[in-house]
Amino acid sequence: MYTTEVRVKALPVKEWLSRYCFPDRFRDACCACPDYERNWSCPPGVPPAAEFLAGYRTVYLIGVKIVYDRAQRDRAMASPEAADRVREASYGVVKKALLESLLQLERAVPGACTVAAGRCEQCETCSRIDGQPCRRPERLRYSFSAFRFDLTAIARDQLGLELLWAGEGLPEYNVAVAAFVTR
Ligand code: SF4
Repeated sequence: MYTTEVRVKALPVKEWLSRYCFPDRFRDACCACPDYERNWSCPPGVPPAAEFLAGYRTVYLIGVKIVYDRAQRDRAMASPEAADRVREASYGVVKKALLESLLQLERAVPGACTVAAGRCEQCETCSRIDGQPCRRPERLRYSFSAFRFDLTAIARDQLGLELLWAGEGLPEYNVAVAAFVTR
């Protein structure tokens, strides 16, 4: 079992960009990511954050903390594959639910848009891998990291959450960080 805790913080988009967006600093990290050129929600091809967000005034930063229980963490220690299975059945489920909620919210808030917590997972495998156009562009939302924000600093400063990593298995918790921008 896992538990969740949600934190939300509003910020002017201008401040979000000036304090946390570093296109040059994160360029190499983006290129080294396994999703680079393999998912339409990721670079290359994602517009620069300043350009994409130019018409928006306020960002709602949303952090969902997924806290694993002891049994899950023990299971995850068996192998990297076991850790992936536990993560997929917890963090993965929460991430999908978060996106669904934000897509629904978009319908209620004219002109609003979601920045997703991680790569698009609408299809089992992204059509970009085969050089094909996106199959479900109406559900594709760019990944937060694709805009080269400092997620660690955002989570710590704005949401009061330290992002954790584990050498093996799973950390005590993971955090899905998404954003919802409004005009
Ligand atoms: S909707 Fe499918 S094809 Fe489009 S970016 Fe997402 S995973 Fe890739």
